[in-house]
Amino acid sequence: MNSINFSKKLSASGSYDVIVCGGGVSGVSAAISCAERGKSTLLIEKSTILGGLATLGLINLFVPMCNGRGKQIIFGRCEKWVRESAKYGYDTIPDDWQKGEPEAPTDTRYLSWFSPYIFAEQMTEDVVNAGIDLKFDCNAVEPVMDGNVCYGVITFSKSGLEYYTCKMLIDATGDLDVMRRAGVPCKAGKNFATYMGKQITLDTCKEAVEKNNIYYAIKHVSGYSASLYGTNQPEGVPMWSGLTCDEVSDYIITNQLKMLDNIKTDGRLSREVTALPLMPQFRTSCRLIGDYTFTEKDVYRHFEDSVCAINDFDHRDYLYEVPLRTLCRNDYPNMITAGRSASAEGYGWDVIRVIPPAILTGQAAANAACLAIDSGCGVSSVDIKTLQKMLEEENVMIHFPDEYVLKEKYTGEVAEIEGGHF
Ligand SMILES: Cc1cc2nc3c(=O)[nH]c(=O)nc-3n(C[C@H](O)[C@H](O)[C@H](O)COP(=O)(O)OP(=O)(O)OC[C@H]3O[C@@H](n4cnc5c(N)ncnc54)[C@H](O)[C@@H]3O)c2cc1C
Repeated sequence: MNSINFSKKLSASGSYDVIVCGGGVSGVSAAISCAERGKSTLLIEKSTILGGLATLGLINLFVPMCNGRGKQIIFGRCEKWVRESAKYGYDTIPDDWQKGEPEAPTDTRYLSWFSPYIFAEQMTEDVVNAGIDLKFDCNAVEPVMDGNVCYGVITFSKSGLEYYTCKMLIDATGDLDVMRRAGVPCKAGKNFATYMGKQITLDTCKEAVEKNNIYYAIKHVSGYSASLYGTNQPEGVPMWSGLTCDEVSDYIITNQLKMLDNIKTDGRLSREVTALPLMPQFRTSCRLIGDYTFTEKDVYRHFEDSVCAINDFDHRDYLYEVPLRTLCRNDYPNMITAGRSASAEGYGWDVIRVIPPAILTGQAAANAACLAIDSGCGVSSVDIKTLQKMLEEENVMIHFPDEYVLKEKYTGEVAEIEGGHF
């Protein structure tokens, strides 16, 4: 077991129990859990709205949170946010799921589109109400390390360079910016060419009026539009990891020019582009090499150190558990990640990175960090039963029920995915 001496102090602009770097869905979820556990919490976000890819990046869809047979798998803060986002913005929660899990089995999957900007403001409200110190337009630049122990982070904002100390740091930057710069082992991903903005047209406006629902007014407008499986990846266009300024700029320039080409053919008075993604739509830029690496082969596997049960969003029936070890490493005792930089490979990375699991791994990282502080141990050494109990108190399902496993489909090998995507 690693024990940490928290007494070392450097001159700083502020000191916190937990610093969460990155205010995407995983970071906001993590920060709220920390604050609700009574920990002083700083949330650092480099843009000017919360939600990351889900809002700023215009990826405003809670993908399926059920097993595809009418059983809900993903609860926790995700369930809460799906319902809350539907209070003030549009939603597409299917009729079967309007009142929660349906009584009879259904093939209809539990998913919902949401208003990205209204939901972002709701998250700001949640963060403020939780008593979290929130720094917008503030970049977490560099961790301050002593060996493998993190003492805090240097930030850059309108105030210039500042230093904040913490007992635990949660890297929810999506790109593992802080842990990567701390020298934590990590692996870069590759990203297909996807760039989706939003537009309205006279036709979509008409449809919205006819249906009396503003959701129908807003449609995608794309630069390149490759899927997560690489369908539509154009020949001659590179894949980007997204970890250098040049790559990010090349991705944005390539796609903005493509989108402009696409819309040049449309009638200029019949449509308007209402939003461009204000962060790169990279699915897998960089992930931790954790004490465990999650893959699609983990389908139907129970883990003793599971921190949440999740489902495959694209293929019904496939269920997984996420071990704590995918979020941290034993040799870095007070740093942990959440969201799309969790330790996962191949299609497993796709399963774990999407919005619903990202919200749950945020809760998991936060509770592990809080428990580690209270126990005076490293984050990977917390008492797992206590952690699981804390997560259950937050309505997270830890182990999927065995009766949901379709044994006739289970080969024990790589999941036989419906649709045969790979
Ligand atoms: C093209 C595409 C389509 C997708 N489709 C879906 C879908 O339909 N449904 C779904 O559920 N998921 C989808 N996803 C996945 C999903 O959007 C993301 O995986 C999820 O939102 C990740 O959340 P996160 O909090 O881990 O990271 P992010 O959303 O990346 O959040 C990271 C946050 O950290 C901030 N940040 C980054 N670096 C720093 C720094 N150094 N200092 C301070 N702040 C920093 C960023 O501004 C951002 O707010 C899609 C992703 C892509 C790219």
